[in-house]
Amino acid sequence: MHQCLTVDIDPNTFSNYLDVRMNHLHVEWLLDLDKKIVNGTAQISFKFLKHTNYIDLDVYQLSILNVYLVNGNTLKHEIQVVKEQSLIQGDRLHIVLDRDYNPLENIILKIKYAYDERARAVGFLTKEQTHSKKVPYMFTQCETNNCRSIIPLQDTPSVKFTFTATVISTNPLIKAFMTGEQIASLPLIGQYGLESTFYTYSFQLNIPIPAYLIGIVAGEIEQKHIGANCYVISEPFYLDDYAKELDELPFFIEKMTDYIGPYIWGDYKIVILPQSFPFGGMEHPLLTFASPVIIVGDKSGVGTAVHEIAHSWMGNTVTGNNWSNMWIMEGFCVFLERKTYKYVRPQDYDIIEAINGNFNLISAIQGLTDPDEKSYQTLHPITSWKNPDDSTSSVPYERGYQLLYYLEQLIGEENFKFMLRQYLDHFKFQSIDEDDFYKFLLDWVRSNVKVNTQKIIDDIVAVYKPWVYQQGLPPKTIEFKTPKYDEAVALANKWINQGKPANADDYINYMPNQKMIFMQQILDNYTKLNHQRLKELDDYYKLSGTKSGPKIAFKWYKTVILSKYDPGLEAVHGFLQSLGVRSYVVGTYEVLIPNYPNEADAWFAQDKWSYHPLVANRVEDMLKKKMRGAHITQ
Ligand SMILES: [Zn+2]
Repeated sequence: MHQCLTVDIDPNTFSNYLDVRMNHLHVEWLLDLDKKIVNGTAQISFKFLKHTNYIDLDVYQLSILNVYLVNGNTLKHEIQVVKEQSLIQGDRLHIVLDRDYNPLENIILKIKYAYDERARAVGFLTKEQTHSKKVPYMFTQCETNNCRSIIPLQDTPSVKFTFTATVISTNPLIKAFMTGEQIASLPLIGQYGLESTFYTYSFQLNIPIPAYLIGIVAGEIEQKHIGANCYVISEPFYLDDYAKELDELPFFIEKMTDYIGPYIWGDYKIVILPQSFPFGGMEHPLLTFASPVIIVGDKSGVGTAVHEIAHSWMGNTVTGNNWSNMWIMEGFCVFLERKTYKYVRPQDYDIIEAINGNFNLISAIQGLTDPDEKSYQTLHPITSWKNPDDSTSSVPYERGYQLLYYLEQLIGEENFKFMLRQYLDHFKFQSIDEDDFYKFLLDWVRSNVKVNTQKIIDDIVAVYKPWVYQQGLPPKTIEFKTPKYDEAVALANKWINQGKPANADDYINYMPNQKMIFMQQILDNYTKLNHQRLKELDDYYKLSGTKSGPKIAFKWYKTVILSKYDPGLEAVHGFLQSLGVRSYVVGTYEVLIPNYPNEADAWFAQDKWSYHPLVANRVEDMLKKKMRGAHITQ
């Protein structure tokens, strides 16, 4: 049997996962959403790999009440602060065992604990922040290393375990969904055989997953079947509209399966969260989370769902073993996502996606100039003593995608497909690093490619490691070409150079991502557009207050801010109030703060409450830095 003995360890966990490893987790949670407190028990099964007499776990601001063995014997434990990391990566929960344990022995620990508003994985919403305003709501975001703020465990993508959960809700209106298959939803029978108002929801996942894929959503939510094995979950008011917008999901899964092989996880459920969900989407197995910004009204935003479906294979089946190898999740996922567009979207949609991705990659690499951040330009960022969230950008997505695209060009499209299928089979349910894939790829080419084999191997050897480890742009430039790109750039250039062109209406029929190319060109040339020209553009395409989705809106609003085009400013504020996705909110404030410092302060003070802590904290830091900067220059 293949054993993946990788040397790339995870610097972002305080657990001793190389000595002892969890293989099953059961959590029981009692939700008190009014008080924003969850009381819980985690029951964890471990197998020892080495001789040891202690177990260290990751925790972040958890209240640990008791640690004991299944026979009831209490174990000594303490929270150890490591190098002032408490608010960066959390603390170490050190548990002293009752005796020495030998390799291959098993142990089951139970930990009683509680978490509250300090849990940085959790967005607790008051009932006023929901649509019906009847009951509060909660959701989590555990990636990258935030699971330790809701469960004491080995919080590393190197460790995978099977999972069961029971969630108790004290209000029949509050339903819960978690990662995994729902196996029961029952009223709890009280002590005297009477039905109480408590409801239990139970979940199970027999496929091993890492901690970052655990998620829960609870509130007044319902699910609706949309065909095949697909369901949408949301607040009841929106459910029908969301189901209509997402009715292509069964088709996407079918087409992806045609390319990559069977979907193994069971039902595909997608939750559309309230607007404060800080990301576009999150790929919990059987329970994708997505921001409402993906619901544009014309199905143009559902690409996020395609991406999250692709994670069922790339990331959730084969996982990077630490946050330096995030491209094993994201680069492969983007590759499969764009491959699927070839079958479910108009011609060259995938190429336009790759071109837009390349813009993002170049601007990310150019922006990461701080000496501390330069390794983030590579596919192997250094994340030691940092919150690994800080290292995430377009780089693992797009630099990773371009590497795979380049390799596909080398070994041929059909060959590459078979290589990917065998890669998934070979590493299934494991966590790997870039070197595991590298060796597998070279072996595969040696055994399966019959023409030009040595030349192909030489080419791979020449580029692979520089692509992963070298700073700056990737070693090969890939030319993504389509006439649809040239058309969009030409139309934007006419606006920039001469004003409204005769073929201005072409824009209306562009694919959504082609509109982004147009808008990127406008943004890149904002200094050449005077306010009169901007007004013509805005009036003609109704850009301020646009309903064409946040990706296009974001580029337009950046143009407005950078050009100091005041008439568009009110719409910028409207945009910031309409969503909570970190990349848009933070990206907008990044240009707003230097150009409109007073508005930035006033708007943030007004809207802060509506953002997830992960977003609000980031903007707050940016505003503070600006204040410090101003202080120094005075
Ligand atoms: Zn992803």
